[in-house]
Amino acid sequence: MLPQWGAGSPPDGRVSKPAVSTMEFLARFRVALGWVCAPLVLILAHRSGDNICVDTHVHRISNRLRWVATRTPEETEQALYQAVPRRWWPVVNLYLVTWGQNICRPVYPLCGDCAVAARCPKIGVLKIGKRKP
Ligand code: SF4
Repeated sequence: MLPQWGAGSPPDGRVSKPAVSTMEFLARFRVALGWVCAPLVLILAHRSGDNICVDTHVHRISNRLRWVATRTPEETEQALYQAVPRRWWPVVNLYLVTWGQNICRPVYPLCGDCAVAARCPKIGVLKIGKRKP
């Protein structure tokens, strides 16, 4: 599949950077892999610094923090390119997914244990959870 997308694999087996531009590669890749997986592949396999991978955790937390005000993950990705300094783009997903699984959970987020609670407007948070003793 890689040659079809403009990428190649050198003899040592490592995957090379795509021959087409990153954004073109991403656009083609999204058709095959979907919105979330395509940027993740570019970030992890190609060490791209040009993408933000937005899944449900990134979408939810970005809106709770009011980094963005969006309705869909697709809108969130585009808004985050404006809101987040470029050097953080490749790691936004890593940090917010871990945070979303442990602290800023989908329901009953643990705001009492959150390091940024004092600076968070908690947009859309209706009930706050408590950590089990
Ligand atoms: S304060 Fe609450 S809503 Fe805001 S980021 Fe922390 S856990 Fe999420």
